[in-house]
Amino acid sequence: MQVPLLDLKSQYAEMKSEILPALEKICDSQYFILGADVEKFEQEIAEYCGTKYACGVTSGSDALIIALMVEGIGQGDEVITTPFTFFATAGAIARVGATPVFADIDPDTFNIDPKAIQEKITEKTKAIIPVHLYGQCAEMEEIMVIAKEHNLIVIEDGAQAIGSEYEGKRAGSIGDYGCFSFFPSKNLGAFGDGGIVTTNDEEKYKLLKIFRNHGSEPKYFHKYIGGNFRLDALQAVVLSIKLKYLDSWSAARQRNAAEYRALFAKSTVANKVELPKKATHSTRHIYNQFCILVPEGTRDGLKQALLDAGIGVDVYYPLPLHKQECFEYLGYKDGDFPVSEGACERIIALPIFPESTSEQREYVVAEVEKFLN
Ligand SMILES: *Cc1c(COP(=O)(O)O)cnc(C)c1O
Repeated sequence: MQVPLLDLKSQYAEMKSEILPALEKICDSQYFILGADVEKFEQEIAEYCGTKYACGVTSGSDALIIALMVEGIGQGDEVITTPFTFFATAGAIARVGATPVFADIDPDTFNIDPKAIQEKITEKTKAIIPVHLYGQCAEMEEIMVIAKEHNLIVIEDGAQAIGSEYEGKRAGSIGDYGCFSFFPSKNLGAFGDGGIVTTNDEEKYKLLKIFRNHGSEPKYFHKYIGGNFRLDALQAVVLSIKLKYLDSWSAARQRNAAEYRALFAKSTVANKVELPKKATHSTRHIYNQFCILVPEGTRDGLKQALLDAGIGVDVYYPLPLHKQECFEYLGYKDGDFPVSEGACERIIALPIFPESTSEQREYVVAEVEKFLN
């Protein structure tokens, strides 16, 4: 049996007849940059995330960069984040010239540990970037308390968590900014790259719009050095159509996760495999990934065995950011973040995409059993 990690073709087949005419309309108009379709989509996302504003940008990575730029964060500033995330989170901090400062994660949720943040605050700290990893929100209440106490900006990296909730509040509506990615493999994926920044602050929103267009306001007059961070109209119409289905996809992912839990619970490896744990706060986990922990020393073998059996699996992430070659200059060493390092050695993501079937999940669990027994 073949079980891909993600199957976007079946999703596309369902919406093809809706999407192609919308794309054709844009092509006929030859109006590609920003405009009414982008504005409409921005309003839809603001509404979906429970924020006042949203500013469409080129990618999730650029969403993080532009938020940092609007805050004037750069050389000499420190930004605290997790070492257990996709590279872009820390890459954005370094790209604006600031210093990424890592704080270890909670072993249950894989999200940044607020207590670890506290220990990393210095007089140079300007912001915190919590990541809502795999689709479950970080411990936002404690993070907001710390931020307020030290006058820090909070930029939520919600790239994997659009529609996820923390105590009834949507990801991206709690911090000063919410940054989202529409990379095709995210829960809401474009036909290429795209991203968006949400905020409740009118002043910040105005600056986001200025910065995404080379800092010009009015046209050809530049008070700031921004960049070209504009979301394409073609992507906006695709995303606008897909957004209508997002909740049903998230519900399907939750159902699939529940099925995995039931299957593993009655499997022969129930005591060997650690399933994703729910945070202590109330959450709406949208399962961008379903990542399990397997016994030390078994992960790489399991990964190969599953791939050989036709099952698409991957490791998010094999190397924590403090150990990346490009961040050697930050001076971290092995053992600095034991929880993140342990997760990198033991974690593996199983297929959880909405259209996957019960038979596929049974096969996946059976193959995991076969290898770990
Ligand atoms: C995907 C991702 C990003 C970057 O998004 P792009 O749209 O690919 O630039 C940033 N942070 C996290 C946690 C991500 O998963």
